[in-house]
Amino acid sequence: ADTAAEREMTDGFHLVIDALKLNGIETIYGVPGIPITDLGRLAQAEGMRVISFRHEQHAGNAAAIAGFLTKKPGICLTVSAPGFLNGLTALANATTNCFPMILISGSSEREIVDLQQGDYEEMDQLAIAKPLCKAAFRVLHAADIGIAVARAIRAAVSGRPGGVYLDLPAKLFSQVMDAEAGAKSLVKVIDAAPAQIPAPEAVERALGLLKNAKRPLIILGKGAAYAQADEAIRNLVEKSGIPYLPMSMAKGLLPDTHPQSAGAARSLALKKADVVMLVGARLNWLLSHGKGKTWGEPGTQKFIQIDIEPREMDSNIEIAAPLVGDIGSCVSALLKGMGENPSPPPAEWTGALRTKKEENLGKMASKLRKNSTPMDFHGALGALRTIIKERPDAILVNEGANTLDLARGVIDMYQPRKRLDVGTWGIMGIGMGFAVAAAIETGKPVLAVEGDSAFGFSGMEVETICRYNLPICIVVFNNNGIYRGTDTDPTGRDPGTTVFVKDSRYDKMMEAFGGVGVQATTPDELSRAVNEAMDSGRPTLINAVIDPQAGTESGNIGSLNPQSMVKKK
Ligand code: ADP
Ligand code: MG
Repeated sequence: ADTAAEREMTDGFHLVIDALKLNGIETIYGVPGIPITDLGRLAQAEGMRVISFRHEQHAGNAAAIAGFLTKKPGICLTVSAPGFLNGLTALANATTNCFPMILISGSSEREIVDLQQGDYEEMDQLAIAKPLCKAAFRVLHAADIGIAVARAIRAAVSGRPGGVYLDLPAKLFSQVMDAEAGAKSLVKVIDAAPAQIPAPEAVERALGLLKNAKRPLIILGKGAAYAQADEAIRNLVEKSGIPYLPMSMAKGLLPDTHPQSAGAARSLALKKADVVMLVGARLNWLLSHGKGKTWGEPGTQKFIQIDIEPREMDSNIEIAAPLVGDIGSCVSALLKGMGENPSPPPAEWTGALRTKKEENLGKMASKLRKNSTPMDFHGALGALRTIIKERPDAILVNEGANTLDLARGVIDMYQPRKRLDVGTWGIMGIGMGFAVAAAIETGKPVLAVEGDSAFGFSGMEVETICRYNLPICIVVFNNNGIYRGTDTDPTGRDPGTTVFVKDSRYDKMMEAFGGVGVQATTPDELSRAVNEAMDSGRPTLINAVIDPQAGTESGNIGSLNPQSMVKKK
C-alpha cells in the first residue's frame, strides 16, 4: 500500500526553499541560529547563495539594497525575537526607502507565545512587524508556504515597493507532506509588479504645464533609478532640453557631467524654477517639503509629480499635475505626447544655471587639488573622484556626516544605480550591508567611502567581506570622531562625547581576517591604495587620516541639530 515511508515526502524547510527558487530568488542574506539554521544550510545545498552575516541589521540592509538593485525582493533570514528585532530595523528602513525586501524570521510556538507562558525567545513578532512594513504574514501550515511566499513577493514589489515580514514558527519547518502535493502547492507569481499606465488626461495636464514653463526643472529621485527606465528617462531629459537635478541615489542616471545637469547650481535651480517635475522623488525633508527658503515664493512654483503611489500627491504642498503610474510608463507617455521637436526651455534660464554651475565647479576645483597632510575632506575626495571617473562601473557606497555630504557633491557618477547611500532616513550603519550586497548582486568592484563613526556601526562585517572574498575596498575617513575629533569633557573626567580613540588604525581590522590593510596620509597614497584594491579585487580597508579639525557639526544638516542656547550664554 501507499505508506508514508514509500511515498516521497517534503517538509517546511524544503517548501520555503522551493517557493523562493521557483520565483527566481537566488540569494539569502542572514544570520543562522534557532530555528532557521538548517534552512540556510539546506538552501545552500540546493544551490542558493547564502550569505551569513555577523549581525542581522547588516544582513537586512544587504537584502534591502539587493531589492533596489534588482527589482526583486531581497531576502533576509533571521532567528526569533532579538534576531528578528535586529532585522526589523533594516525592514523599516527598506519600507521608508521604497526598497522591496522580505524579512523571514523563525519564531516560537504560537500556543506558548499567545498564552505568554515564556517560550524560548518568546515574542509576538507578527504584531510588532506590522506597523513597520508594507505587509506581514504568518504561515502555520506547510501547505500554505507557497501562497504565503507568493503574497510576500507581490506585496514587496507591486505598487510602491517596500518591506514585507514573513513569520515562520519553528514547528512549520519540520511539518511533513506528500512531495507531489507540496510541489503543487507552490505558486509562481505572474507579473509581480504590473505596469501602471497613467491616464491620458493626466499626461496632457503635465505636458501643458511643461510647455508653458519659462524656468522648468526636472528632479530625478531614487524611484527613477529603481524603475530601470534609464533610456526613457535620458530621452525625456535630452529631448525636452530641461535642466535636471539628481537626488543622491539618482546620480548617474545621466552622467553628472551632462550639460543639462544643474547639480552644481542646486540652490538657484530650486529657488527660481517655475515648473518642477518630480520623477520618483518625494517632497520630504530632503527637498525641504517643497517650501521655505529653499524654494521660491509660495504659489509661484507649480509641481508635476510622477509617482506610483497616488497618496504621495499633495503630501506636503499642492501638486498641480499628478501623474500616477510607474515611471517607465509615465515617462514614455510624456515622450510620446511631446512630439518630435518640443521647443527648448528659454536660453535665459538654462544660461543662468550654466553660469552658476561653472562658477561653483571652479570654486570646488581648487579645493580638490589640495595635497595637505593630514588630509582634509576635499583633498581625499578629490582622489576618489578621479578613481570613479576612471572606473565608472564601480559601485560607490557612502555614509557618514561630512564624508557623506561632501562626497555626494564631489564624486561624479556616470552610470545608473552606482551610488548607494544613507537614503531617506539619512541613517548610519548601511555601509557594510550595502557593500556586500552590491558586490554579490552585481559582481562589480565596490568602493565604500565611510566616515569613521558610520563605519563603526557595521564594521564587524569586514569579517564577512573577507570570508566571501568580495571585491570591496573600504576607505575610512578617520578624523578621530563624529563630525570632528576635537571634543573634550568639560569636567576633564572622560573623553568628549563625540570623539574616538585618537589615531586608530582601522586598517588593522581588515588584516585580522586576512584582507589588505593600508594606512594613507596623503591623497597620492590614498589613490594608489584604492587603485591597487580595485585591480586586485581583494578585500581592502584603507585608513585615510583626516585632520581632526576638519568637518562641521552634523555636516549639511546642522539646522536639524538643536543646540542649547543656555550653554552658549
Ligand atoms: P529620493 O530620496 O531620491 O528623493 P524618494 O525615496 O523620496 O527618492 O522617492 C522615491 C519615490 O519613487 C517614492 O515616492 C516611490 O513611491 C516612487 N517609486 C518607486 N518606484 C517607482 C516606480 N517604479 N514607478 C513610479 N514611482 C516609483
Ligand atoms: Mg569622523
